[in-house]
Amino acid sequence: MNRPIPEPRKILRHYWGYEAFRPGQEEIIESVLQGRDTLALLATGGGKSLCYQIPALALGGLCIVVTPLIALMKDQVRALHRLGISAEALISGLTLEESEEILEKADTGQLQFLYLSPERLGNQDFLTRCRPWNLTLLAVDEAHCIAQWGHDFRPEYQRIGEFKASLSSPNLPNNKGLPTLALTASATPEVCNEICERLGMHRPVVFRQTFARPKLQYAWPQTHSKHKILEDSLATLRGKALVYTRSRSQSEQVALWLTKHGYPAQAYHAGLSPELRDLRQKSWMSHEFPIMVCTSAFGMGIDQPDVRLVFHWNVPESPEAYYQEAGRAGRDGGDGVCIMPWTLEDLKDAKDRIEEAFPPIERIHRVYQALGLWCNLAVGAGLDQRFDFDASAFCHRFDLPEKEVHHAMQILHRAELIRIQEELMLPARVRFVVSARRLYELRVQEPVLDPYIDILLRNYPGILDRGVRFDERALARQSGITAVSILQAIRRLEALQVLDFVPRSDKQGIVWITERLPLTHVHIPASAYTLLKEARLNRLQALESMMTLENPPGKVKDLHQDCRSQRLLHYFGETQSAPCGICDLCLENQALKGEFNGQEMQDFQNKIRPLLQEPTHVLELMRQLDPGPHQSAPSEIQRRTYALQWLVDQGIIQRQINDTLLWIKP
Ligand SMILES: [Zn+2]
Repeated sequence: MNRPIPEPRKILRHYWGYEAFRPGQEEIIESVLQGRDTLALLATGGGKSLCYQIPALALGGLCIVVTPLIALMKDQVRALHRLGISAEALISGLTLEESEEILEKADTGQLQFLYLSPERLGNQDFLTRCRPWNLTLLAVDEAHCIAQWGHDFRPEYQRIGEFKASLSSPNLPNNKGLPTLALTASATPEVCNEICERLGMHRPVVFRQTFARPKLQYAWPQTHSKHKILEDSLATLRGKALVYTRSRSQSEQVALWLTKHGYPAQAYHAGLSPELRDLRQKSWMSHEFPIMVCTSAFGMGIDQPDVRLVFHWNVPESPEAYYQEAGRAGRDGGDGVCIMPWTLEDLKDAKDRIEEAFPPIERIHRVYQALGLWCNLAVGAGLDQRFDFDASAFCHRFDLPEKEVHHAMQILHRAELIRIQEELMLPARVRFVVSARRLYELRVQEPVLDPYIDILLRNYPGILDRGVRFDERALARQSGITAVSILQAIRRLEALQVLDFVPRSDKQGIVWITERLPLTHVHIPASAYTLLKEARLNRLQALESMMTLENPPGKVKDLHQDCRSQRLLHYFGETQSAPCGICDLCLENQALKGEFNGQEMQDFQNKIRPLLQEPTHVLELMRQLDPGPHQSAPSEIQRRTYALQWLVDQGIIQRQINDTLLWIKP
């Protein structure tokens, strides 16, 4: 490389128009520019993509970006196009021609960024194809997915390491392999080590932004009155709220309950149609329905600045999951409240869910057999083939419970026998199947169809030669004709045998990664079952001990049990953090120590001052503080007792004989 490398700041200004980087970005970019393998832990919304985009633009050549989320890929590609940067995404659902077009751009050096899902890297043809490319950087997003014991392991991620190893390019400096930048939002120190090792990173530099979110207020009370706590926390809501639930049905229930009580809430989960999900997401973002009751399906790639409340209706399965979801609050740097009320049953429930996720091996075998029959495959056949999969029809046909099938398929996926293609959206396609001449005749014969044919020809230049993606809504927007009448015209053209139309499909699919095996050869490795289950149980236990403040058996007493934030940070390897001062434990601690500087102490004093103008017995005072039929929780009464003692110590009230109290300060 002889050309001078442009300065990152100049690139930032030139393309993005910003003058300065966000904290942490510049160091990461410098490290990548020096050709060092780099692992960066950046909070979501911390500007991860610039960390590879800027060095890739500076280095020239082609940057491969691996990411598991198709929606994010598309967003990124669109964003780069708007900046005039050439980028493409190789995703499933493209036609052969479309993939080929993208690959040709890469062949001829016209491409700066190629986004792809990790399974693509296992493809031998792809490997051969990309060897001559001028690859300068490999960026791996959501890098924690490579960690076997991580909370979001995806077996396809293992392909990245293999891909790197098989690429030995003489262009690369010092024979270290393709320089790699791994990015993730959350990873324990063990997971970081695993990422570096599995990606074959050479003496990696690790950048770790602190995980501390000083403006997030964690409160995890043990309580049975979740509804009450939810209502109380919504009463003061000024921005948006996310209420995380465990299941589709639960999200519907809670949303319904809130609606009945007059709150603008709606549910979001993977069981809704893509259109409905889109609609609800939009009305949440536009603040029309500021309360979203969702499953973990919501939030991937959501970066809304004014989420003020994240409420966990159920216990998530790991500290990682909790941190990620709670971290959606206060993205604008403002305050956020993260509430997770829990009961002992909730903890048991969370554990049961993990147990449930690992059906007995013989049940998994049964599902495997049924899948072979579903796809009509003989033993030894099926390698790399894709089949549509309809879970409910499958379960019905083979009389299998849906949950068990779901979990068994996850395990078969991890065992690298089959791959599940979730929510694969195959776009609608159209193609004219007559000659241009015949089409011209038709336009004259059927003038009603003429404007539609015209729109199709103008918007889809290749439509006479091959099937092209078709989106009636986009066409409707551009042409001012309604989507319905466009579809009617398409149907009419189809009936006239002028046009081929394949409607949009959002079927799930399965791909056989290994040919169908006889059952005696179906091996479920420990990494896909026993060890994995153990790792998940351990993570849940780590979260549990943060909640209950008990220490897991065999672990030394945790010194960080005074503060939720400290405990979370400690889990992520930050051992030197200070108490946050605002979580429920910190507040309780302050109450215990009498360190009431906040509103609470002021409120308490205002309340008791008029009551203690006469000498009043302490029990009578407590009774007057709880005038209704319900008594406050014992912890609350204890806090009051401590607070009273503090007020006595300060000489604000006086304790007289017979345990009566009197306000003495003027
Ligand atoms: Zn705290």
